[in-house]
Amino acid sequence: RTVYVNGEYLPEDQATVSVFDRGFLMADGVYEVVSVLDGKLLDFGGHIRRLQRSLDELQMDNPLSEEEYLEAHRQLIAKNGIGDGLIYLQVTRGNPGDRDFAFPPAGTRPTVVMFTQAKAGLADNPAAKTGWKIISVEDLRWARRDIKTVQLLYPSLAKMEAKARGVDDAWLVEDGLVTEGTSNNAYIVKGNTIITRALSNDILHGVTRAAVLRFANEAQMKVEERSFTIEESQGADEAFVTSASAFVMPVVEIDGAAIGSGQVGPVATRLREIYVEEMRKAAV
Ligand code: PLP
Repeated sequence: RTVYVNGEYLPEDQATVSVFDRGFLMADGVYEVVSVLDGKLLDFGGHIRRLQRSLDELQMDNPLSEEEYLEAHRQLIAKNGIGDGLIYLQVTRGNPGDRDFAFPPAGTRPTVVMFTQAKAGLADNPAAKTGWKIISVEDLRWARRDIKTVQLLYPSLAKMEAKARGVDDAWLVEDGLVTEGTSNNAYIVKGNTIITRALSNDILHGVTRAAVLRFANEAQMKVEERSFTIEESQGADEAFVTSASAFVMPVVEIDGAAIGSGQVGPVATRLREIYVEEMRKAAV
């Protein structure tokens, strides 16, 4: 692969970041993941706006303009021949030259890294036909999950727990209520109503979530933004998750209990179709 590091396009085995980089030593960095379908970027503006928000919340400079990010994404798509796939973008507080808890002096250049992951047939993921099985685990992450930091150890542990138990993912639960999935937002469906936790510092403000709720409203589906328990999920007609890489992914089992019929349901299926169709139309 050709990857991007601080303005340069390099073969991945020649791209390097300092051992003193704050991203490496302190998880002092934020990231975005943008999907690519047919060589075009989905919801690019939404991801760049959230990147800016994450940087602002951490008082970190944004070293590139939206146009520069777009150009770099397009260069990586072209250089790596990406049809369908993902582009990962990470910005860290850079390399102060030593390890110190205090932020580096103003003017220290943030580190920007971008790389591609090819995913042939991303929109036709066969898992969307069978749905995911998930477990619930306690949400032990920090209290600012609205900032998309590279501090991903707990979600990674939860993913490993899911794998060890033979399922696809985990929903995180705090004070008895579902916050979100390890790397996606969580929803249940009761009748014609889509229920998902309201935005706050407790969850990531999913770019896919915003798009899917907009499409649901346009399709006259009812949306309720409120918290729910695992028990309520298990009694729901359908469940699903959303993310830039999974789009709309049905969930058919939670902690061993089948959701509804135990099959992928019509609401999740329809939302996935609308999402892919509308996103393809608006891709850049
Ligand atoms: N929640 C968490 C914790 C995530 O890591 C992600 C995506 O990586 C999401 C939700 C979904 O966000 P988006 O739809 O912007 O990909």
